[in-house]
Amino acid sequence: MKRAAALSAVAAAPLVLIAVALLAPLAVLSAALASPLSPSPAALADIPAELLPVYQQAAGRCALPWTALAGVGKVETDHARSNLPGVASGANAAGAAGPMQFGIGGRAGNTWGGDPTRPVPPDLRYGTDGNGDGIANVYDPADAIHAAAGYLCDLGADTDLRRAIASYNAGPGNPAAGLGYADRVLAIAKGYAQAVTQSASGPGEWGGHANGRIPAEVLCPIDPSGDQRLHCDAAAAFAQLDAGYRARFGAPISITDSYRSYEDQVRLKASWCDRGACHMAATPGSSNHGWGLALDLGGGINRFGAAQHDWMRANAPALGWHHPDWARQGGGKEEPWHWEYGAPE
Ligand SMILES: [Zn+2]
Repeated sequence: MKRAAALSAVAAAPLVLIAVALLAPLAVLSAALASPLSPSPAALADIPAELLPVYQQAAGRCALPWTALAGVGKVETDHARSNLPGVASGANAAGAAGPMQFGIGGRAGNTWGGDPTRPVPPDLRYGTDGNGDGIANVYDPADAIHAAAGYLCDLGADTDLRRAIASYNAGPGNPAAGLGYADRVLAIAKGYAQAVTQSASGPGEWGGHANGRIPAEVLCPIDPSGDQRLHCDAAAAFAQLDAGYRARFGAPISITDSYRSYEDQVRLKASWCDRGACHMAATPGSSNHGWGLALDLGGGINRFGAAQHDWMRANAPALGWHHPDWARQGGGKEEPWHWEYGAPE
């Protein structure tokens, strides 16, 4: 796996620069939304304590979840712990070097730019000085992680995270070859994000409140009117997801419903029952909407097969949002619009 990862970074070398100017205003927006995800116990156990803040800070340059950036660092070199050639010094057989396996020459090309260790400014290609010591050092995790974040952002992490990670691995011209790699990274990213609850059955109880009886002031607004509210962790992750969605579709995610009070759950159940479809609404007091951990979405997300729905399927899990099995096509109670935050099914 490590060998494959090292070789794959090589393939990423002949890269085509994407129009950075286009992404710049989004970088400003997303900087304000940087890293809302709390690290899970697994993340705290696995990621070296000095690297966690580096991943979190570096990811803030675009709507890139720090968990995904850390997932790349895990797959490439086990957060710089790998003893393989080219991680701490030199380069592997193909010319990839450092914790994030940047190409520094040879078959890998020179994605890093210039010498592996050199003064900055100027930045050359992706090699950069992440920790302000005046040196861009491909072997220094602080520099390499910032460089990898810049590369992933240019590869479109704002708009299609899975594809950007695949391109990081297999090259911008051939993302399909890197999808397996991307899925490994995203699975790790999911494990690095703190779930709201650790229950096996998905999201649920938190904060000592009863379902549908959560005071508005402990929930966080997710729309300009403040009418739509969620658990604050879910709201922070949603803001980051929304930034990526805006970058891709040019419009915010359309929210139909969010937190639902107990009384609203009773009303909703009655209205479905009136239409002879009682099964479509949860028993009042059991809906994840009553925990502020579920959303009903529109604007295309509410249709199986729509680009917006597929984008959510690809990008939401890295931010802790998922479409539950039961709501999927053929899942028994199809609700393409219903999404949940927290420990997945
Ligand atoms: Zn719902």
